[in-house]
Formats: sequence, C-alpha cells, structure tokens
Amino acid sequence: MDDKLWKAFSEYIRRRNADENGMVKCFTCSSFKHWKEMQAGHGIPRQHWGTRYDEKNVQSQCRKCNCFEQGEQAEFSKQVDLKYGAGTWGLLIIKKHLVRKRPSKFEIDALTKFYKQKILDL
Ligand SMILES: [Zn+2]
Repeated sequence: MDDKLWKAFSEYIRRRNADENGMVKCFTCSSFKHWKEMQAGHGIPRQHWGTRYDEKNVQSQCRKCNCFEQGEQAEFSKQVDLKYGAGTWGLLIIKKHLVRKRPSKFEIDALTKFYKQKILDL
C-alpha cells in the first residue's frame, strides 16, 4: 500500500548525502558505493509505522549491513547519536511506540509528493 511512498523516500534517503558522482558512504561501515547500489536501511525495524519514514531512522546502508548483519543496530544507534546529538536514538525508540497505525491513503499520497519534490530539490 505504501510502495510508491517507499520508492520516493528510499531514493531521497540514498541520494541526500551522495557526492556529485552519486557516491555515498554506508551509515554503519566504511563501504562507499553509488546510491543505486545502496539500500535505505532502518535502525528501528521497518514494521514500526512510527519510525518507518523517519529521516533519522532510515539511512544509506550497504547490502551487507542492511541484510546480513540485521541492520547493524548497535552501530546504527551509535551513529544516530553522533550525527544528530546524544539522546536522539532514545527519542526514536519513544516515537516507535507513539504511532501504531498505518498512515491513511491521503497521508501516504501527501508524503509521496513531498519526497518526490525533495528529490528534485537535491
Ligand atoms: Zn555497510
């Protein structure tokens, strides 16, 4: 139901920190690849709606970190606090519990439009 939104959001997340050649570093290891080869990985797992589309909880990750190391959550949480300030990961954990419902179609459409525009603005 949120495939279109995920497509736009994931592209934005992977491209926002890419350099002029489209290269971006993995959030949880030293891997450096083109954004198209990266994945948009979640710190708090994707099934939690409260943080599913949180720009701090979703970062460029290499396939290895995202798929084979269970998202490297310990390293992910450390990097979130380094990047956004101490306590940010704790706030994400709270946010995860705040919103339990899926967004409505209206919200999904609005967010999809929002992230498509953000990609154009990069
Ligand atoms: Zn990695």
